[in-house]
Amino acid sequence: MILGKPLESDMNLRPIHYQWAYDLYNQAVANTWFPHEIALGEDLEDFKKMTDDERHAVSFLMSFFNPSELIVNRSLALGVYPYLKAPEAHLYLAKQMWEEANHCQAFEYVLETFPLDKEKAFNVHLETPSIIAKEAFMSKYLGRMSENIDIESISGKQDFVRNLVAYNIVMEGIWFYSGFMVALSFRQRQKLKNFASMIDWVVRDESLHLKFGLNLILTILEENPEISTPEFANEIKAIVIEGVNLENAYNQDLFPRGISGVNADYVNQYVRYVADRRLEELGFEAHFHDVNPAQWMATETDTLELVNFFEAQNTKYEVDNHAH
Ligand code: MN
Ligand code: FE
Repeated sequence: MILGKPLESDMNLRPIHYQWAYDLYNQAVANTWFPHEIALGEDLEDFKKMTDDERHAVSFLMSFFNPSELIVNRSLALGVYPYLKAPEAHLYLAKQMWEEANHCQAFEYVLETFPLDKEKAFNVHLETPSIIAKEAFMSKYLGRMSENIDIESISGKQDFVRNLVAYNIVMEGIWFYSGFMVALSFRQRQKLKNFASMIDWVVRDESLHLKFGLNLILTILEENPEISTPEFANEIKAIVIEGVNLENAYNQDLFPRGISGVNADYVNQYVRYVADRRLEELGFEAHFHDVNPAQWMATETDTLELVNFFEAQNTKYEVDNHAH
């Protein structure tokens, strides 16, 4: 069992029980990068020539991402790591936590480089209703994890999965991808190319976070079939759909008017497309049935690689066969 109170006997790395976790740890270590390896001088020149709406989009994105990296780390430290027994999963989470810290520093570097009102940028997430709503949604799930839950009980295991779905699937797997798409869209228009390279490194990390989280959820559901009731499956699907609704409101604030090539409708269609992929990866059917409006992102986000990974790793998660 991957979930539970760790015993002394769980503190041996060998034999490894969850090879996927150890493989992801080694892959994550091989992906190590540092923000200051990327020079942003050219991008600063691009930034100065951009319209106010374009600059607002970049600033608003950084304002959401910067605290989000720390919020993900809190969930890993308080809501995930303490409830796992497998040392190979702990190794991976230690590296993921460093990566989230590194992403926070990367976005700091962008905020320092571009002529932005930093004070204002740091406060945006505390003052913007659509971001406050996103953060409140997250805190609700992590809050439950700090209320002395019994991880051996059905309700404790369900709380763990709810929290993981909120942080890993909704926040990292949908909201972050939406932001990455917007950030990378500037490169489609020959702007902010080095910033885009930085985002490429972040996306590479986040795609492993997503693989780890999905594998963890699917492993828990396989090992604890008693938690997978139709009601619980419906609840999980509803968490994903609520996440999409919160992101729609946020994208209106990101693009009050739209910029060249991208507006809120375009981003929200991408959000629905990505949400359907996440639902399928969890074993549900697609809900929104939208076409990917940003075909150029298919290579960026390696969605197909992700799907193949789970075809190879995971076989019989069928929690929702009759529940929708
Ligand atoms: Mn991150
Ligand atoms: Fe992450």
